[in-house]
Amino acid sequence: MSDKINIEIGMAMKSDLKDPATKAAWMSEYESPNPRVCQNCGGTGYLHLFLASGGPFEGVPHGISKWDENLQKWWTGSTKSYPCPVCNSGSA
Ligand SMILES: [Zn+2]
Repeated sequence: MSDKINIEIGMAMKSDLKDPATKAAWMSEYESPNPRVCQNCGGTGYLHLFLASGGPFEGVPHGISKWDENLQKWWTGSTKSYPCPVCNSGSA
């Protein structure tokens, strides 16, 4: 578990993170089938980011939501996938 983004991210992800509509964002936990192929994305070729557009909420909101361990509250938003900038030329 890490609450810090310490990996290479592409331009598309950077611009989504800077978007004022994005209130919070987390790298999604996912399986790393082959970290030897690429340590950045775990060998999947993609990075997955949960972009929160609503919240934080006290109760469980409708729709796609995510629990925030730090705030102990809920966010709504969506998960986006981005090509890994290290192994999948995700610079566009
Ligand atoms: Zn990669």
